[in-house]
Amino acid sequence: MAGLPKYAFFEGKIVPFSEANVSIATHALHYGTGAFGGLRGYWNADKEELYIFRPIDHFTRLLGSSKMLRMDLPYTPAQLVDILTELLRTENMREDCYIRPLIYKATPTIGVRLHNLDDQLAIFALPFGQYLEKEEGLHVTISSWRRIDDNAIPARGKITGAYINSALIVSDAKAAGFDDALVLNEDGHIAEAAAANFFIVRDGVAITPPITANILEGITRRTVIQLLREELGVEVVERNIDRTELYICDEAFSCGTGYQVAAVTRVDYRNIGTGVMGPLTSRLRDLYFDVVRGRKPKYASWLVPVYHPVREAAR
Ligand code: PMP
Repeated sequence: MAGLPKYAFFEGKIVPFSEANVSIATHALHYGTGAFGGLRGYWNADKEELYIFRPIDHFTRLLGSSKMLRMDLPYTPAQLVDILTELLRTENMREDCYIRPLIYKATPTIGVRLHNLDDQLAIFALPFGQYLEKEEGLHVTISSWRRIDDNAIPARGKITGAYINSALIVSDAKAAGFDDALVLNEDGHIAEAAAANFFIVRDGVAITPPITANILEGITRRTVIQLLREELGVEVVERNIDRTELYICDEAFSCGTGYQVAAVTRVDYRNIGTGVMGPLTSRLRDLYFDVVRGRKPKYASWLVPVYHPVREAAR
């Protein structure tokens, strides 16, 4: 990390980041028995406000992942939002940032299992700009790896151990000179990008794989579906996507908290559409940035302000 955070929420309280440390015998470190989230905070300079984007949805998904891991954490999503806003105020975060909550099997022990282990929550935040260098036009490949299957490791949970799958996909794609990769599920349909959900546009219809296609149930995906339908009047269909549809579709984009809305303009040396960001992707991107920075009052309920709390109304 470029600069370390000053504070973290760790073992039930906010402490200096340097004191938030775990033992090398921690269960999660050995067996991948953790789950995490990734949220963004967007700084609005006019309003001198930091907006956390859809934290209730992110924490609801995190607690869902914790259930898959047989964890019983003593927090509601709303309580986690309160902890997070207090942390961000303590950190005095006044710029765009990335927020990382992590839940993990904390017991220092040997033995692969999910039961009879202590569960802990940690959260920290750090300044963050663009995650991808080329949000305006990614050249992707189709990964030779397959997406993890729900009957092996739940893809709809954000399980730490499962991210070996994404790490293999990213590093092999980068080593081969691509910006990112799309990964097929065991059925041979496109699941998603390494750490983002995926859409194509054909004849004015936006198409994205269903949540039963071994994808993460992305908060950005949900946001984009609503914005396409409500604001841009675009039909959205959730169905399987074949890889050759990429060669004939008009536009494609990946979306996620980190990626935001990133145009995918080439796949395996073939242009997608005309090989530059398509008009619908471009309009959606502009709209997305307006929404996350608090410039669209209609969607204010998705934002939790850190410094001028009207949080009850936001829920
Ligand atoms: N798929 C995967 C595998 C991811 O890691 C992410 C990033 N969290 C996403 C999709 C997008 O999810 P979200 O929009 O909730 O960030």
